[in-house]
Amino acid sequence: MNGELIPTTVVLFGPPGSGKGTQAKLLTEKLSLPHVSTGDMLREHIALGDALGIEVREVIKAGNLVPDHLVIRLVEDRLNRPDCKAGVLLDGFPRTIDQARMLLGMAEGRGLRLLVIHLKVDYDVITARLTGRRICPQCGTLYNIRLKPPIVPGRCNIEGSRLIIREDDKESVIRQRLVGYDAQTMPVLEFFAEHVKFFEVDGSDRKPEDLSNEIVNWIQTTITDEGSASGEGL
Ligand code: ADP
Repeated sequence: MNGELIPTTVVLFGPPGSGKGTQAKLLTEKLSLPHVSTGDMLREHIALGDALGIEVREVIKAGNLVPDHLVIRLVEDRLNRPDCKAGVLLDGFPRTIDQARMLLGMAEGRGLRLLVIHLKVDYDVITARLTGRRICPQCGTLYNIRLKPPIVPGRCNIEGSRLIIREDDKESVIRQRLVGYDAQTMPVLEFFAEHVKFFEVDGSDRKPEDLSNEIVNWIQTTITDEGSASGEGL
């Protein structure tokens, strides 16, 4: 797929632990789109200990959403960088109706196509995934102590570094994140259903590679159909 020619914003949408991060890693290469994860950006600020990091640390640790004005400013700044001009792969944004409005306005203003992928996953599967999740602090590779263990327990297969547990992956915090998802983020789906094309896939029991191929196929077909409907090629 020739990603450079496609000015498309792809949104990976789904509950915590639905596999957005894993899919984003695969799709960013297949689609040649930069990966923008609000969760990763916020965690970088926390690690730096700057003003934003200090402001959001406790909110994230408690499993709540960071206020819209902070996240929207962060995303606007990121999307204004040159590498995002021809499109972007968004992971974890938007999560509220106001964030979705901002994104829709920006996509329309820039003439970008907006496509949404909804990863649906059973909440039992999510809890099992998140309570066992471990991350390499150096390369970001994700493991799961039960479902996808590293070769040497507690160590990254690639870097050899000691794997870490995210502060918000404790069981009580996971529950809070799911409550927030139901209350604040699910309504965004209805908003999207009215305004943009979206694709729903069940990610509960699928190989990540197969799932990413299915997503790429849908994106490719949608873009081709739009191109033929408007008489334009890619
Ligand atoms: P997950 O999808 O597994 O919850 P993320 O890394 O996307 O993980 O997000 C981690 C945390 O960062 C969220 O629980 C929330 O506190 C904060 N966050 C990330 N993206 C947003 C957003 N778009 N709006 C508000 N808060 C966000």
